[in-house]
Amino acid sequence: MQIGLDEIWLEKLQRRTGLDRDKSRRLYRVILVGAIGLSYLIDTIMYGLFALAGTIEGWVVGVYGAVGLGHLVLFSLIHWFADVERRPDPQLVAWQMGYAVLAQILGAALAPQLAPLFIGTVSIVFAFGSLRIELRAALLSWLVAFIGFGIILMVPAHPALGIVNPSRLELLLLTVSFALIALRTTMLGYYGSAMRMRLYKVNWALGQAKNDAEQLAASDPLTGALSRRAIVPLIEKSLKRNARGGIPSCVAMIDLDWFKSINDRFGHMAGDKVLRRVVDCIRQCLRTSDVVGRYGGEEFVLLLQGADELSGARLVERVRGTVSSADWSEIAPGLKVSVSCGIASIRITDTLDSVLTRADQALYEAKRGGRDQLRVA
Ligand code: GH3
Ligand code: MG
Ligand code: MG
Repeated sequence: MQIGLDEIWLEKLQRRTGLDRDKSRRLYRVILVGAIGLSYLIDTIMYGLFALAGTIEGWVVGVYGAVGLGHLVLFSLIHWFADVERRPDPQLVAWQMGYAVLAQILGAALAPQLAPLFIGTVSIVFAFGSLRIELRAALLSWLVAFIGFGIILMVPAHPALGIVNPSRLELLLLTVSFALIALRTTMLGYYGSAMRMRLYKVNWALGQAKNDAEQLAASDPLTGALSRRAIVPLIEKSLKRNARGGIPSCVAMIDLDWFKSINDRFGHMAGDKVLRRVVDCIRQCLRTSDVVGRYGGEEFVLLLQGADELSGARLVERVRGTVSSADWSEIAPGLKVSVSCGIASIRITDTLDSVLTRADQALYEAKRGGRDQLRVA
């Protein structure tokens, strides 16, 4: 499971506003458009100051402001009312970029004195696009900007590109304008990297949680042995490997003797401790390629990979001896624990059922024979 960039902010917005998912998604997009509107407002104010300084004419500021307001209203309405969710570009990034680039070209055409500022503003548009844009849309926006500004720069119809003999006030305004352009570009870059960082962290945590859940399902929480669910596929794999003429393997069943009476005499807690200790004893005897799983309440299954009947039996016999000779008085004075074991080596014709049945029958024989012993199927 992976989480998208928007999801993180959406969750927050939904929690804060209490709106449903669809409404908060729309609101989120309108807020983004609002940020773009704010950027237009900053530009319009700067151009207004240039008009007051006499650099450009007042009506140009009016037109630019109206175009900016148009962006705000048009895209807000679309995001609030229209159904764009199933589009490949639901945020309409490409369309918004196109609109904004055209707005800058228009501005540069109407006020070529400030062409450098309009060109600078295009960098903000591209920084916005870089948050999420397809390659095709990116190249198309670039082409539109390039051709548009190319035409304006080439056509000699304008008075001057850039301010001729700028006054101190105009120089100040230019400096502030550039500072504001650079600030917005940087902030967008920061916003993008913060989102990615956040996204990375969330996805990392999700991956971690998934691992934990898998581990939890794979191991028995009491004893740390594999769960039945986890060991069965391992046995099946071993069967397949054996059927292909691979290495020999054995399956053993180990069942605690008189465990019900251990519980009855010493308590369930002591019983739990015994189960854990028995698994410790089993682990002491296993080789690295062997695995132990908890098959039922007090019944364990061993998969001894690469062991033939003789070496497998020797290993399980060692388990049995370790359990019966262990000192159990630490758990409860007078406590004695033993296990009965049955072992079956995997045959080429075996299925999961048949090999487990044989091991189980051998275990049953061991029980019938007086317990605390191993029988080979
Ligand atoms: P046998 O020698 O024939 O195997 O006798 P037994 O008493 O061991 O067998 P039985 O199947 O009659 O009883 C098994 C007992 O294991 C019953 C159940 O309460 C206990 N048991 C199963 N799971 C747990 C567990 O997680 N903790 C504890 N303490 N006891 C458990
Ligand atoms: Mg038992
Ligand atoms: Mg049992």
